[in-house]
Amino acid sequence: MSHSIAVLPGDGIGPEITAPTLELLGELGDFTFTEHPFGGASIDVHGTALTDETLDACKRSDAVLLAAVGGPKWDTTDPSKPRPEQGLLGLRKQLGLFANLRPVRPVPALYDASALKREILDGTDLLVVRELTGGIYFGEKTRTATDASDLCHYTVAEVDRIARVAFDAARKRRNLVHSVDKANVLETSRQWRQVVHEVHGADYAEVQLEDQLVDSCAMELIARPTQFDVIVTENLFGDILSDAAAMLSGSLGMLPSASVGNPDGPGLFEPVHGSAPDIAGQGIANPLATFLSAAMLLRHGLGLEAEATAIEAAVDGALGDGLRTRDLGGTATTAEALDAVRRRLA
Ligand code: ATP
Ligand code: MG
Repeated sequence: MSHSIAVLPGDGIGPEITAPTLELLGELGDFTFTEHPFGGASIDVHGTALTDETLDACKRSDAVLLAAVGGPKWDTTDPSKPRPEQGLLGLRKQLGLFANLRPVRPVPALYDASALKREILDGTDLLVVRELTGGIYFGEKTRTATDASDLCHYTVAEVDRIARVAFDAARKRRNLVHSVDKANVLETSRQWRQVVHEVHGADYAEVQLEDQLVDSCAMELIARPTQFDVIVTENLFGDILSDAAAMLSGSLGMLPSASVGNPDGPGLFEPVHGSAPDIAGQGIANPLATFLSAAMLLRHGLGLEAEATAIEAAVDGALGDGLRTRDLGGTATTAEALDAVRRRLA
């Protein structure tokens, strides 16, 4: 049976890193790909970042592969103008994807590309579980000539379900969860901490649970990253912490992510990096984060564990062989990166 994958190449380097990813997937199984305009590319044609057609196609698919959206062409402070990022927020919300998973596992071949020492990185293998559809990003926004506000709001149910995603993930890993909040000053954080502990006590008592304040977590991530297994946190903190954690891997161009949570619909799989408009069209973008996102799609979206592991091993192998795109301090092109990974896959 052929798996259907909705493909959203998006903007900037998006199309350049999508094409080799589909080639790679094509070597691993029988997939039906359908491409749809999304983000700025959709604004240009349809005047909106996410059309009903694209949304319906995503809903009908088994999984959604997204590259990146946005760029200076669509930057605007005018709230009446459409923005590419609205498409992404809308798509996640419409698909019911409330959990963003970002694994961070520095590859030994790239330790030297990281700002951190080999001794600090060695053994790091962590997963950031970020709440994706609540919190300050979605709260009421107001703006007058003299002030502005963004409301941070969470329901007990929203915290409960993201806590379960984190504890379930920890059970398949090393059974440790750090729940990150700012409970010394924020009411939403005090609720967060209480609900996480209730879920833990009721259903996951065998998982080790640690509370950590977000500022302390940021410091510990850089100082002693090996202590972490699963980090679970709300939307804004997760956005920031996962970018900080990203730098452990040496490059933004290496990090995959998955947005999941809806058992009855497809998950969304995308690299952590943006559309990199500064290097778009040059054929030098690092496609590895998108390859690794495809691996997460195979694992979490389609249940194809062996194929997922094959991609991850081939990426590690290619890096071990010396593959280095520009962002990793080398000169390899996107096409050469595909060739290097393909050789390892064979
Ligand atoms: P967004 O707001 O969409 O997250 P951004 O402005 O934060 O975007 P990116 O688009 O991720 O940033 O780019 C940040 C820097 O990293 C840029 O210099 C870009 O060229 C580089 N970069 C990002 N992704 C890649 C990649 N896959 N390969 C090479 N360089 C990349
Ligand atoms: Mg960014």
